[in-house]
Amino acid sequence: MPVDSPVPIPILLLAWYDRSARRLPWRAPPGAPATDPYRVWLSEVMLQQTTVAAVGRYFAEFTQRWPSVDALAGAADEDVMAAWAGLGYYARARNLLACARTVAAAGGHFPDSEEDLRALPGVGAYTAAAIAAIAFGRRAVVVDANVERVVARLFAISTPLPAAKTAIREAAATITPDTRPGDFAQAMMDLGATICTPKRPACAICPVNGHCTAFRAGDAALYPVKSPKAVRPSRHGTTFWLESDGHVLLVRRPDKGMLGGMRALPSGPWTDADPGMAGAPAGISWRPLGNVAHVFTHFALNLAVVAGDTSDRTGDGEWWPVDDIDRAGLPTLFAKAAALAQKARIAEDEGRA
Ligand code: SF4
Repeated sequence: MPVDSPVPIPILLLAWYDRSARRLPWRAPPGAPATDPYRVWLSEVMLQQTTVAAVGRYFAEFTQRWPSVDALAGAADEDVMAAWAGLGYYARARNLLACARTVAAAGGHFPDSEEDLRALPGVGAYTAAAIAAIAFGRRAVVVDANVERVVARLFAISTPLPAAKTAIREAAATITPDTRPGDFAQAMMDLGATICTPKRPACAICPVNGHCTAFRAGDAALYPVKSPKAVRPSRHGTTFWLESDGHVLLVRRPDKGMLGGMRALPSGPWTDADPGMAGAPAGISWRPLGNVAHVFTHFALNLAVVAGDTSDRTGDGEWWPVDDIDRAGLPTLFAKAAALAQKARIAEDEGRA
């Protein structure tokens, strides 16, 4: 509900956006014609659960290597998975390829309606709305985590998340304009990222503070209300650094499951109890090197790293030059394990010298 200001929220917000928009590589400047849907789609998929700062160099590399949806559709799976390494949530990379191939097969043009966009692999309600608004100038209600916070505060929505999502979306719909919907969506995102921040929002300089119910009540930081967090369970696993004449054994993880399709060190099951040497790629004596910890969305993993040597290269997988391991495109978990193994290797070499 409007509180004090007679000027509507979209007008205030767009005027602020014209002055203060973040300059991001995938964006058109405020008021400019929409950018290439391929770039909008790619950036939105990359930004899911990932920060703007982390996405920058990945977006630059992807658009340089694969400048169009047709180019990406023609890329080898392993090249795309390796280029995605480190961004996390690897199902996104598999869906990215599936989506690019679907669009390319249909003539290389993204559909321009939310409904048709949602039919594409990996494109959910949020991403479809964002592409429709930003790339095609369609009125769409675009609600990401930043927008959720802004709207919960503007309207003082006291229902805890995630139950509040429907109310937040309905409230967001009441302020979404027909004109410049793409700029409006990005303005809301920018407001949430730079002024209406999770802690200590800068309400004094907020362009829409005259409309903000939470600000007027003096309790902006209480919103959005969140349900108590469930405790994240722990799992344990073992990964195997198997060397043969300056090369290390790498495998491709099964397409389905955690880090699916990614190049990785061999590892056994990830279970509630320590799985020991289950899944070892060779029946040799293994040296313990230490542990790496990694937090996934639904559990925390404690991964023991063990090392061994072999002259038998007959098993499944590829033998990768150890000195070139940084170019293998390992996901962060296995990159940490590889770093630990290399550190131990250097220490062993120094001990022998
Ligand atoms: S006034 Fe404060 S709480 Fe309200 S939208 Fe602006 S920054 Fe957020």
